[in-house]
Amino acid sequence: PSSRTLLTMWEPGAGCERREVQECLQQFQVTRAQLQQIQAGLLDSMEQALRGQANPAPAVRMLPTYVGSTPHGTEQGDFLVLELGATGASLRVLWVTLTGVDGHRVEPRSQEFVIPQEVMLGTGQQLFDFAACCLSEFLDAHPVGNQGLQLGFSFSFPCHQTGLARSTLISWTKGFRCSGVEGQDVVQLLRDAIQRRGASNIDVIAVVNDTVGTMMGCEPGVRPCEVGLVVDTGTNACYMEEARHVAALDEDRGRVCVSVEWGSFGDDGALGPLLTAFDHALDLESLNPHAQRFEKMVGGLYLGELVRLVLSHLAQRGVLFGGSSSPALQSQGSILPEDVAAMEDPSVGAAHVLTILQGLGLSPEVSDVELVRSVCAAVSTRAARLCAAALAAVLARLQRSREQQMLQVTVATGGRVFEWHRRFHSILQETVALLVPECDVSFIPSVDGGGRGVAVVTAVAARLAAHRRL
Ligand code: BGC
Repeated sequence: PSSRTLLTMWEPGAGCERREVQECLQQFQVTRAQLQQIQAGLLDSMEQALRGQANPAPAVRMLPTYVGSTPHGTEQGDFLVLELGATGASLRVLWVTLTGVDGHRVEPRSQEFVIPQEVMLGTGQQLFDFAACCLSEFLDAHPVGNQGLQLGFSFSFPCHQTGLARSTLISWTKGFRCSGVEGQDVVQLLRDAIQRRGASNIDVIAVVNDTVGTMMGCEPGVRPCEVGLVVDTGTNACYMEEARHVAALDEDRGRVCVSVEWGSFGDDGALGPLLTAFDHALDLESLNPHAQRFEKMVGGLYLGELVRLVLSHLAQRGVLFGGSSSPALQSQGSILPEDVAAMEDPSVGAAHVLTILQGLGLSPEVSDVELVRSVCAAVSTRAARLCAAALAAVLARLQRSREQQMLQVTVATGGRVFEWHRRFHSILQETVALLVPECDVSFIPSVDGGGRGVAVVTAVAARLAAHRRL
């Protein structure tokens, strides 16, 4: 064909645009059968890991956490909590007061610090020195007394725990890559940094994954909360397993909280048919290519990036923004997950969507708004449905380990994706009901972003340590 015919073939008309967008977005659709496959595949991997299968290595780790019961509501005391990793590039310090049985809640004091990019990618010593410095700054700004401060460390990365205050980092996830930390005990690294800072009044008592903090912070209600689900920059869940089913522990009684670490599901290729060209591009440009494939389809750190890659592709194809792009649209990380949530929210007017797009240096037409909204909705609907399939696997596991036909269970939810994105929660809930109709599930949002739960675990650890000293 002559160049003239080629041009006419690609001239975007309204129908042509719509088809192009539809074809692109269809790739993000996940059928019920595919969700059921993910649920079954994840359940298989979870059970292989519980049995201690080594070869082939199961796709998820199922890490025991040394938390042996849900909270009694009797824990009390004042605790310093340091949260690292749950909310991406920020670190939080909290002062949490647990009042025991009297039940009234004291608002925690908290302060958030932005971790500079060079620290997230620097040496372990820089990172832990930064954390110790934030602790000192917090204590200067919020005088809480100088006597024996008991600290709970919320560290939201996959770790082998060998005690309530011993935990070896397996691998970094979510935008962190500090040298010299993988394979090391992160509690010891934090203690060393606190020592270097001369803050010997701080005692690190417990280390907790954010999912465990989320579950343990749940107020004991009609029934205990036995699952913690987090969707923030990353995603994961924990639940109470019968200890006798966990081969890594030599226990035949009681229960133990297990962190599934479902972010790595699919690293063995199991998600193959679902992965789009955008997922592959995102994976290759990430700090940890070929790892955390499931997390990269669900976690907040990646939702904005997937939307950016799709919008940039559609702009290139001449379907959006009059065919022009911008340096921001070409830059990794320029679309935030909260922008995705806002842009797809039907109650947010077109003017706001246009403002977000203009903020990216684009010159959008009003007619672009609907297409952009459908891109955001496709990416986040897929995320919520995949998350539901994973949660359904955990619920099915819980049901099997309890040998119950009908399971009544409470799930604590935490993470900013739930806060930003009301639709995420409703899609998750509907899809879980579809996948495990025999489970009666209630969802409860976490208290204080999981900080309270970390304090509860710290209180228990402090009590156990005091008993040992007696
Ligand atoms: C980490 C988990 C964590 C989850 C949610 C994942 O990247 O591996 O340990 O619970 O993010 O923060």
